[in-house]
Amino acid sequence: MSLLSVRGLSKSYDGVRAVDDVSMAVEPGEVRALIGPNGAGKTTLVGMICGRIAPSAGQVVFDGQDITALPAHRRTRLGMAYTFQITSIYARLPVAENVALAARPHMAASKVAQAACSVLEQVGLERYRDVLAGDLSYGHQRLVEIAMGLVASPRLLILDEPTQGLSEPEIAAFKDLVRGQAGRRAILLIEHNMDVVMALADRVTVLSAGALLFEGTPDEVRADRGVQAAYLGGV
Ligand code: ATP
Repeated sequence: MSLLSVRGLSKSYDGVRAVDDVSMAVEPGEVRALIGPNGAGKTTLVGMICGRIAPSAGQVVFDGQDITALPAHRRTRLGMAYTFQITSIYARLPVAENVALAARPHMAASKVAQAACSVLEQVGLERYRDVLAGDLSYGHQRLVEIAMGLVASPRLLILDEPTQGLSEPEIAAFKDLVRGQAGRRAILLIEHNMDVVMALADRVTVLSAGALLFEGTPDEVRADRGVQAAYLGGV
């Protein structure tokens, strides 16, 4: 059974179809990239999956359960976590405290500190644990957000443009981090950096003008003429 199924999902704003009848499925443990030109509907689709945006039509099924009407916080309890383009950390709190805050709803109080510590190790931020999050570099702040998503041990982690604004070494560290998660949880990744997509994704879903244009392996996506015309510009 798929971990996540999206069926006929649509979202209209004033008659404009931001997402238009999209169906897709994500399997347990897979890394799925979601790509498409600016305005293709990626953020809107993911917003409907995680419960931030109410669909105009369609269904979201997670682990066999219809969650279309569930609020976002209930979906996180079922094993979904997400980070967004805009950083959502608490700048005036230490790094470890940010991660602990994200952990608290998901575990007994006595387990929080250890879980925060272990996830900071996984993302390579253990030496910054007592630093105020606002004093970190932008790249490290993005990693704190990912740590905040991972600490709940989600079965599906959704990342919206996680490498945007990162330096090359930071992107390399991010790739290692995702590879280290492989098989443990599914990751749905909105990503503009095609090098990252090609390196990490098991499968790629391509959106264009709100609709699903193509789905396949990175090589199939690279070879598809429709995708090239809509997006890749002949990569
Ligand atoms: P980007 O890569 O630039 O983040 P995207 O693929 O994530 O783009 P969306 O942000 O989902 O695309 O936007 C899809 C379309 O829906 C765009 O035309 C956008 O202008 C429109 N849209 C998104 N949110 C709203 C809103 N709240 N009200 C009106 N239109 C919206």
